[in-house]
Amino acid sequence: MVTWPIHLVLIVFLFALGTVVGSFLNVCIYRIPWQKSVVWPGSRCPKCWNAIAPQDNIPIVSWLALRGECRSCGAPIAARYPLVEALVGLLFVGVYVSDVLYGAEIPWGALPARYPLEVAYHLTLVALLVAATFIDYDLWIIPDEITVTGMIVGLGVGAAFPEVRPDPSTAQTHAAGFWVGLTGLLVGGGMTWAVRLLGSLAFRKEAMGFGDVTLMAMIGAFLGWQVAVMTFFLGAFVGLGHALWKLVKMIGKRLAGRKIVGVDHELPYGPYLSMAAAMLMLSWPWLWKHWAHGYFDQLRMVFWFLLGFPEVGGPPR
Ligand SMILES: [Zn+2]
Repeated sequence: MVTWPIHLVLIVFLFALGTVVGSFLNVCIYRIPWQKSVVWPGSRCPKCWNAIAPQDNIPIVSWLALRGECRSCGAPIAARYPLVEALVGLLFVGVYVSDVLYGAEIPWGALPARYPLEVAYHLTLVALLVAATFIDYDLWIIPDEITVTGMIVGLGVGAAFPEVRPDPSTAQTHAAGFWVGLTGLLVGGGMTWAVRLLGSLAFRKEAMGFGDVTLMAMIGAFLGWQVAVMTFFLGAFVGLGHALWKLVKMIGKRLAGRKIVGVDHELPYGPYLSMAAAMLMLSWPWLWKHWAHGYFDQLRMVFWFLLGFPEVGGPPR
């Protein structure tokens, strides 16, 4: 069966859908922190206050056609708007490639009904992560509107459709689906909360915001505790890499005898956690099969060994 035209059509569709969702997320990123409605009123130019016509509101295309300027007053429109739209489009395509092209490993005609659901589930998480990332980057907060909504969706969908989560968090019954989500929520949120507490005791100041705790709880509820634990460490690693890069640039400036301006000593952690969660989610079908599977098996054996069940790798049933 020739399946590539179907995949191609769906990939083009998902990219377009992603840019539209990205356009809506731009509105959310701008309005949610101020408790404003995200549906009304329509978008306006922040300078001349003229309503933006529908034909000037097409994702990416309108920005390029208008060369990044408002049609009415010529005020510059930030390149971030089309870039967020393109980013979400690409991430949507990434979810399809990961879940269906790579993850499914079965011919198109034989795809079980859970695949469209799995894709939709992951697209939802992408949208929530992108909104959290840019709001945290702008204002150093992650609104509960995003993370609590995400927890409810993760727990609810995971309980209604227990097979939706990635291995090894996939479940068979509604109750099991709910428990997997709740475990992920508590592990993701709990470990972040514990590190936050330790950090504030050690450094006598807030090391991480509570928004990071709820963000990690959301990621755990969506993807299970294994992905949440790995997200936490990968996020720290990515954040550390960025911090080191800033340090190198600063030393470079000093050596060149230039003045250092606008040094920020702290970085919001949410964008790194979101980035790590997205990277793990997209690579998970591959990562689980080739690497994480064995790693978590060993971890489980160590865990049960410490509890006194050395040989079976688990408690007697
Ligand atoms: Zn204007």
